[in-house]
Amino acid sequence: MAMPEQPVLEKMEPLATEQVEPWLLQIHSKQHIDAIKSDAETYNNVLPATAACLAAVDAVMQGKVRNAFCASRPPGHHALNTGREEGFCYFNHIAIAARYAQQKYEAEKVLIIDWDYHHGNGTEWAFYSDPSVLFFSTHDQYAYPGTGSPSRTGEGDGEGFNINVHLGCGTDDKAILAAFEQHLRPALTKFKPDLILVSAGFDSRVDDLLGCFAITDQGFAQLTRWVMQLADEFCDGRLVSVLEGGYNIQGNARAAVSHLEALTQQ
Ligand SMILES: [Zn+2]
Repeated sequence: MAMPEQPVLEKMEPLATEQVEPWLLQIHSKQHIDAIKSDAETYNNVLPATAACLAAVDAVMQGKVRNAFCASRPPGHHALNTGREEGFCYFNHIAIAARYAQQKYEAEKVLIIDWDYHHGNGTEWAFYSDPSVLFFSTHDQYAYPGTGSPSRTGEGDGEGFNINVHLGCGTDDKAILAAFEQHLRPALTKFKPDLILVSAGFDSRVDDLLGCFAITDQGFAQLTRWVMQLADEFCDGRLVSVLEGGYNIQGNARAAVSHLEALTQQ
């Protein structure tokens, strides 16, 4: 089957990348950065992905666009400070983007939604004791990296601002949307985000090579619209979406297009 035609691209505007290196330190240690930097090829491949996310935050926070999608690889939500790659991730782009939005703009509260099949352990780690970032992740907690227990709700001031939802194999559109309604919606009565970021992993799609969920392309469009409604309600539609996992190349592409079609409908 041919991929959808071009109209979604015509509705999009490419963004220039930002100066990114100083912002890495908001999340990562110098030792970690230096270790990744010691492999110049890797570093040069990873840095533009982080840069794209910062440029997207700029464009959205400055009101140039309503929302943005970063079609970037490698992903970032597993990245820690171990000095090496974790689950294909080197730098946690979305975590860096959240700090960037808070420091450069008046986005005091940032909601990060992670619908990747895997738990965003790096993002949880970055904000676990931070009440200014609400992290919401749906995932299969028994898959890599084995984290993401719903009992992990944050610590100290961050208690209550980390929401993990385990979903089992076969999770479909209806089940994931229900999880969003049941577990995320109530948290927003006390946390009103100034910006919403999405870790848009499409390995939660049906037929993924690493995942066992059954979310369809239509389901991703529904999820996208659900999140857009939240963004409209709380923060003038401000939403930055960042590609994470997705290992069925055709499936990843189709889900991303469906996501983009929803993002550009308004
Ligand atoms: Zn994943």
